[in-house]
Amino acid sequence: MSELRDLYQEVILDHSRSPRNFGHHQPSNRQAKGNNPLCGDKFTVYVLVEDGIVKDLSFEGRGCAISTASASLMTELLKGRTEDDAQAMFERFHAVVTGEKGEELDDGLDKLNVLAGVRGYPMRVKCATLAWHTLKAALKQTDETVVTE
Ligand code: ZN
Repeated sequence: MSELRDLYQEVILDHSRSPRNFGHHQPSNRQAKGNNPLCGDKFTVYVLVEDGIVKDLSFEGRGCAISTASASLMTELLKGRTEDDAQAMFERFHAVVTGEKGEELDDGLDKLNVLAGVRGYPMRVKCATLAWHTLKAALKQTDETVVTE
């Protein structure tokens, strides 16, 4: 189990040090800002949606290792998915990290299990879900700032 934990640690460190899809370099037609004042995480998520498909997405801002790794993994996993899929993935990820559902993630979401360790730490859950809440707001095209309070 501790080997698994080490592996999870590795993935989080890797994604937080070299976040994927970081910066606003691509065309986008939706965006939202997310703010987690308890930790100081602040992100903007940019999404290009065409024909109901998340064609591209990226994020920028600053955050702790957990929030940055989660945002980075999210951008990798959601690219090319339908909006409905992205919503469904948000719901499943949220249920697992908040402990509403104890099960592990699968079906392409297994990469996110590295973040399931935040379960039971409400402060960290806010970090892990910030980018996802922000993406959800972007998909709804609400021009609001998401605050995790
Ligand atoms: Zn944080």
